Amino acid sequence: MNILYDERVDGALPRVDKAALLAELRERLPGLDILHREEDLKPYECDGLSAYRTMPMLVVLPERIEQVEALLRLCHRRQVPVVARGAGTGLSGGALPLEQGILLVMARFNKILEVNPEGRFARVQPGVRNLAISQAAAPFGLYYAPDPSSQIACSIGGNVAENAGGVHCLKYGLTVHNLLKVEILSVEGERLTLGSDALDSPGFDLLALFSGSEGMLGIVTEVTVKLLPKPQMAKVLLASFDSVEKAGRAVGEIIAAGVIPGGLEMMDNLAIRAAEDFIHAGYPVEAEAILLCELDGVEADVHDDCERVRRVLEQAGATEVRQARDEAERARFWAGRKNAFPAVGRLSPDYYCMDGTIPRRELPGVLRGIAELSAEYGLRVANVFHAGDGNMHPLILFDANRPGELERAEALGGKILELCVAVGGSITGEHGVGREKINQMCAQFDADELTLFHAVKAAFDPERLLNPGKNIPTLHRCAEFGAMHVHHGRLPFPELERF
Ligand SMILES: Cc1cc2nc3c(=O)[nH]c(=O)nc-3n(C[C@H](O)[C@H](O)[C@H](O)COP(=O)(O)OP(=O)(O)OC[C@H]3O[C@@H](n4cnc5c(N)ncnc54)[C@H](O)[C@@H]3O)c2cc1C
Repeated sequence: MNILYDERVDGALPRVDKAALLAELRERLPGLDILHREEDLKPYECDGLSAYRTMPMLVVLPERIEQVEALLRLCHRRQVPVVARGAGTGLSGGALPLEQGILLVMARFNKILEVNPEGRFARVQPGVRNLAISQAAAPFGLYYAPDPSSQIACSIGGNVAENAGGVHCLKYGLTVHNLLKVEILSVEGERLTLGSDALDSPGFDLLALFSGSEGMLGIVTEVTVKLLPKPQMAKVLLASFDSVEKAGRAVGEIIAAGVIPGGLEMMDNLAIRAAEDFIHAGYPVEAEAILLCELDGVEADVHDDCERVRRVLEQAGATEVRQARDEAERARFWAGRKNAFPAVGRLSPDYYCMDGTIPRRELPGVLRGIAELSAEYGLRVANVFHAGDGNMHPLILFDANRPGELERAEALGGKILELCVAVGGSITGEHGVGREKINQMCAQFDADELTLFHAVKAAFDPERLLNPGKNIPTLHRCAEFGAMHVHHGRLPFPELERF
């Protein structure tokens, strides 16, 4: 099944002689693990967004950086496209392979090279799991703050490539804010260092540019992350509401009260029930929405913040505010949230996870809009998301075996993202553009902006060999999609035929 695959992207690339490539790889890189039989390639045909599938031509699993270097040089000489893959948990088809390309799996680079408590940093290989960094830092009272819900599985290389976020990013920043230095290999296999051991470095901030570049500018081979001291104390409040809009309004009011919670998450009734059935977190299943608000820091501040937030929540119309009684209950509250995606997955054969960001103040209106769109398209939508960041994750429930439902789910998803853009938001908060949202990029950016993106890509990778066909749409594609961002009423590229 290859539902949304745009063959023109592949078609624009030169065809690759698989047998000749395989023979040369074996000759020049004898120790490299290469998969080429259909049954071995199958597990790699998709990432976490399984609606998009393509069989890779070859999968390689290097264990030494020198192998990656040599592979990139060889691919560059032969003009073979390369798609990097970490743990494959991405939700936007970023690691979707190419029929005419190599899938470069970086998962075997899983060593923690250094934990330095004095410098408060850790140096790790790109395949190290996000959670493993905090586990290695824990004996020193330190941790790595960005915590995607997939942290048990996703790799730090994938986190850098997606600029991943998580529950704690409201207060502590996204991946980009928690990096010191990244070692990369260019498309030609040249070693480059982005960032430095110091807090700032001269020249353009290439580390920031590279964060979130979705494997299109280079291959991450080593990451130096900042470590933070574990907060002395963390408390979590669970507030119930009888309407999602009231809960949405409360989010802005907490921030307006001058409190930046360690985490501020929202779940609607469908998500609450699913998580409760799955995890038994102790959630109020009658509530239309809940907010989980974590306050962390030193004891006196946490105590004051809890009281302040409780008052704000009550004034905002919360029907109940509970504070987790102990660490075990706090962990249960978070376990419900962190497992909400798989929990919702039990409600329906398929779900489609959206990822749009909006200004916080727009939450009530956008949640209402999503409910209206859900009714219009006849598909249930569960909302569970990083409310403090305005980063929405509507989960659209559907059954791919029912004719037309996948297409309806995609159309509904597109409308939700357009709604996010219309209120001043963006089509992605943390899951990236990948293949999934490439059309919506046309709605977000105008032709000049897209041209600039292409120029940046060309500066790193002029032949478009790294992860081609992802993230940045061609202007022709936008014209065909018919959703090019129109700036000041000027239709970009009027000479292009509209479909
Ligand atoms: C249940 C679930 C919950 C999730 N929750 C969150 C969340 O809370 N926040 C969040 O941000 N994301 C979340 N995600 C999405 C996903 O986990 C993140 O995008 C993560 O950063 C992907 O890491 P990965 O190692 O799996 O990368 P992959 O999926 O393998 O790859 C993702 C992208 O990174 C590129 N890439 C991977 N490794 C490298 C490398 N070494 N060098 C260059 N490019 C590379 C790939 O080409 C691709 O474009 C969730 C996913 C799931 C399944």
